Amino acid sequence: MKTDDARARLEVLLADIDGSAKVLEGENAMDFTELSSFDQHPADSGSIVADAQRQDAILHAISDQRDQVIEALARIDAGTYGRCVVCGKQLPDERLEARPEAARCIEDQAKSEA
Ligand SMILES: [Zn+2]
Repeated sequence: MKTDDARARLEVLLADIDGSAKVLEGENAMDFTELSSFDQHPADSGSIVADAQRQDAILHAISDQRDQVIEALARIDAGTYGRCVVCGKQLPDERLEARPEAARCIEDQAKSEA
C-alpha cells in the first residue's frame, strides 16, 4: 500500500475513533447521573454498574486503537511504515488493507498477545 493511501485511511480511522469515543463518553456521563439516583431503583443498580464497566472497557480499547493509529502515522513520517516494528519484515499488503494501523507481522502480533 502506498503511504499516501495509508495516511488518508489512518486519518479517517482517527476521526472515526474520536467520534465513537465522544459518543461513548456522552453515554457514560448519562450513566453517572443515573447512578446518583440508584436508591430509587435498587434493582437496576447492578446492571447500570455493569454497563458502565463495559463502556469503560470499550473506551479503553478505543483509546488503545487510537494510540496505534497515531503511532502508525508517526511511522509514515519516519519512513518506517509498513514494516514490522519487531523484526523489520515488510508487512503484506492484505494485512495493511485490513488493519492500516498494524505495527507487527502476524507472527510477532501472535507472540505479543500470547
Ligand atoms: Zn515481525
